[in-house]
Amino acid sequence: MAVEVVTFGCRLNITESETMQRHAESAGLGDVVIVNTCAVTAEATRQARQSIRRIARERPEARIVVTGCAAQVEPETFAAMPEVSKVLGNEEKMKPETWAAVRDFGIAATEKVAVNDIMAVRETALHLIEGLRGHTRAFVQVQNGCDHRCTFCIIPYGRGNSRSVPMGAVVDQVRLLVEHGSREVVLTGVDITSYGADLPGAPRLGALVKAVLRHVPELERLRISSIDSVEADEDLLDAIANEKRLMPHLHLSLQAGDDMILKRMKRRHSRDDAIRFCDQVRRLRPDMVFGADIIAGFPTETEEMFSRSLDIVAECGLTHLHVFPFSPRPGTPAARMPQVSRDVVKDRARRLREKGEAALLRHLDAEVGATRNVLIELNRIGRTESFTPVRFSSPVERGDLRPVTITGHNGRELLAA
Ligand code: SF4
Repeated sequence: MAVEVVTFGCRLNITESETMQRHAESAGLGDVVIVNTCAVTAEATRQARQSIRRIARERPEARIVVTGCAAQVEPETFAAMPEVSKVLGNEEKMKPETWAAVRDFGIAATEKVAVNDIMAVRETALHLIEGLRGHTRAFVQVQNGCDHRCTFCIIPYGRGNSRSVPMGAVVDQVRLLVEHGSREVVLTGVDITSYGADLPGAPRLGALVKAVLRHVPELERLRISSIDSVEADEDLLDAIANEKRLMPHLHLSLQAGDDMILKRMKRRHSRDDAIRFCDQVRRLRPDMVFGADIIAGFPTETEEMFSRSLDIVAECGLTHLHVFPFSPRPGTPAARMPQVSRDVVKDRARRLREKGEAALLRHLDAEVGATRNVLIELNRIGRTESFTPVRFSSPVERGDLRPVTITGHNGRELLAA
């Protein structure tokens, strides 16, 4: 039986799952299911435990190895599960020798829990891969960890402090992916706007974007994953303005629209900073489309404060809104703050989603009749340059990148023949 990987969470986890699967396969392991967990919410951890129990029922012969951020921040939770054979930390999971040890000594013989102090990790190694199974778009890890300590966030305790992949290694990885057919690459990490602070000469994210586009001229589409708008550097703004292969879509880690709440979240930007950034970027790149993460119901949030999160959707001109109902994450300062009642949290999340859906509808309406370059993925779905999904009515070739006339939309996706 092959090695199976079940991945929760972010793009970083997706790239790491690919690397782990390769390490486990080249170590000759079989009958192993790797569950790569996420810890961003208590719900994410609950879902991982639920899927572990399901896997154990459906594949009683398989040995289950749990990795990822939930395994890193609460290894004892998974070690206590009889269904689990091994718990690996976020650094251990990426080492080929970890999987070789599992093969050589057999899972039972090695320590059940191998999770080191992630805060002690200083480097992030890039494991070159030719592509991502089942993905048309390739994610490239350029950074890991985070030096910030937003009061609602557990990620730094799962991923450690910020560390960057040297620029040359990133360029080599992108070139290898393009040589193996990838037409679109996404630079990803935990806090990519802090890219380079730990590297000689402290190159910023903008310099990395320019280096990738300069040294890999065959790359057709480059994206960057979620950014902290207030930490965008001059080179990045220049690339946004002048590099057509850098896609006109930015996902912002906004989190709230009220300054007092942003302060209590320990975010580095104000609402005016965010609005100013979007205005500036739109002047540089008029076709730019913004997405954003916003939390509804953060502790101490009043109705008046929440109204400013509703307002910022239009003030920043957001199109792709990801709404997170606040859920207290044990171990974070926000979990110890006076909580907003669950009903109010849910109601605010509903209202914010409605606001987001209305903004998306305006965007979809405006796209009808336009011709857009679309990269085709699986199941007759593709994405425009502004990351808007397009559903095709007729069979299309996965990996194909071509101009498409938009014929309509279904309220969530654009439609094409
Ligand atoms: S910037 Fe804040 S929200 Fe993002 S990973 Fe770091 S601590 Fe978490």
